[in-house]
Amino acid sequence: MNSDVARQVRTLRETVARLHGELTRYGLVAWTAGNVSARVPGRDLMVIKPSGVDYDDLTADTMVVCDLDGAVVDGDASPSSDTAAHAYVYRAMPEVGGVVHTHSGYATAWAARGESIPCWLTAQADEFGGEIPVGPFALIGGDDIGKGIVSTLSRHRSPAVLMRNHGVFTIGRDARAAVKAAVMCEDVARTAHLARALGQPLPIAPADVDALHERYQNVYGQRPAPADRAAGTP
Ligand SMILES: [Zn+2]
Repeated sequence: MNSDVARQVRTLRETVARLHGELTRYGLVAWTAGNVSARVPGRDLMVIKPSGVDYDDLTADTMVVCDLDGAVVDGDASPSSDTAAHAYVYRAMPEVGGVVHTHSGYATAWAARGESIPCWLTAQADEFGGEIPVGPFALIGGDDIGKGIVSTLSRHRSPAVLMRNHGVFTIGRDARAAVKAAVMCEDVARTAHLARALGQPLPIAPADVDALHERYQNVYGQRPAPADRAAGTP
């Protein structure tokens, strides 16, 4: 590993370790079931959680570096048992820089019924661009989970998929974006559950879903100041 790559890996080890704290902070995980990974930009490498280590004991040094076939390149522990699924997503979706997996309760309750979450909330249109889809049932080990994630997400704008009878996988341009999608997915799943428990939620017109998604993805949030933008141009 040359020194530039080693520096990138060091930073990603710290980032990925820290982001696991968001999974516990938002109540998305029980025991050690849930994981975050990040692609090392421009390299066929990823940084991922070690298997079976308590969240309180996760540090930059305990993270595991794997190649995109899931083989360990650097690290003392075995990687997460979901490593093959993360690796498959990175191989198949070059634009993805981060992957998250949880069994967060409300979202996984929809997965248990094999039911996608219809778009009943503007916040869902913003983040997910429509329904949060269900992926196929797949056993752990091998590429079946990865294939199910990729085949489902490539047909939807959603960065989250509810794998049937299992849980949530999310993707993002980086690990933080994938964690955000996992947090928002659980929030949407909870509100959608409550809304339907009280009656029949109202759909949002597809054109309005499109408009909300477009605005949120392209306009909302902090924009770089004009000077920063100018500095970024040659
Ligand atoms: Zn799982």
